[in-house]
Amino acid sequence: MTKRIIYGPILSRRLGRSLGVDVIKTLETKKNCNFDCVYCQLGHVPLKITRTDNVKGVVSPEEVVEGLRTYHKNIEDLDYITFSGTCEPTLNSGLGEMIKGIKEISPHPVCVITNSSLVDKENIRRNLSEADLVVATLVSGYEETFNAINRPAEEITLENIINGLKKIRRMDKRPILSIEVMMVDSNIDFPVNHTEREIEKLKEVLIEINPDEIEILTVSRPPAEDYIIPVSDDRLKQIATEFENTFGKERVKLVLKGVKKSHSKMKHGNIEEEVYDLIMRRPCTFRQISASLGIDDKELKPIIGRMLSSESIEETTVGEKNYYKIS
Ligand code: SF4
Repeated sequence: MTKRIIYGPILSRRLGRSLGVDVIKTLETKKNCNFDCVYCQLGHVPLKITRTDNVKGVVSPEEVVEGLRTYHKNIEDLDYITFSGTCEPTLNSGLGEMIKGIKEISPHPVCVITNSSLVDKENIRRNLSEADLVVATLVSGYEETFNAINRPAEEITLENIINGLKKIRRMDKRPILSIEVMMVDSNIDFPVNHTEREIEKLKEVLIEINPDEIEILTVSRPPAEDYIIPVSDDRLKQIATEFENTFGKERVKLVLKGVKKSHSKMKHGNIEEEVYDLIMRRPCTFRQISASLGIDDKELKPIIGRMLSSESIEETTVGEKNYYKIS
């Protein structure tokens, strides 16, 4: 299988119909990240990336624009073009140029989903300033909880991340800043982030950052560690209410499970490659694949069957759901 840098669209609970852009083209590793989050849907990272020039197989701005020009024609409607995928997008130093290039050929807003690790660096904030929306992760206001949940590469500190996020909010030209708070629970003794102490500290930190939006969600796909489980809907609702009381209802978004939009309408090329490209970036259920790519069940079933037989993908069960992921 080859790897295309444009994939999807993905039907996202937050972004609607979103076409994905990966900033790396190598198939060598399943993910290229400077974190190794316990909740990561891509599994463990064999080697954490510590510097932007450590990233192998980086995509150039020209390749992104060309890839998008070709892919884009096949899709009828989109809500966002989103940088995400198998590499933390800010690790590609051409990110700002890529966004500018996309904006020259596409009317759709551009979103960057980042783990926030590098936002303390001026050149990274400059790149992010080209986007319309930045969704930045923050799991805790405590350094030790951040270290336990996100397991960052050396030299990445929560203090620097918080300072960087505050600076994004103060830039003259700036994107909408949405802070994504991934809530995790555990079935072992683990420093989870949904306790009252954690929520109080998070609120303190978020008051300092002053984001445009705060998004609260929990694990919905197979996590890297099997001791990580989702926070209950009841607890998520309580947390959302606490945040709403502090930040106002319009700034707080509680993301519960479930796909919001109807099927995508797109013209297909090689469907098997499209399915592979999608689940390489996020494990999906049968229903999620069919809705994201707009393929009806009858057509999709034999394709999944073939991919399972050739062992290019495998099935995994979480709770009551079956997910497909790359082998
Ligand atoms: S969840 Fe995102 S930030 Fe965390 S390890 Fe996975 S890819 Fe990296």
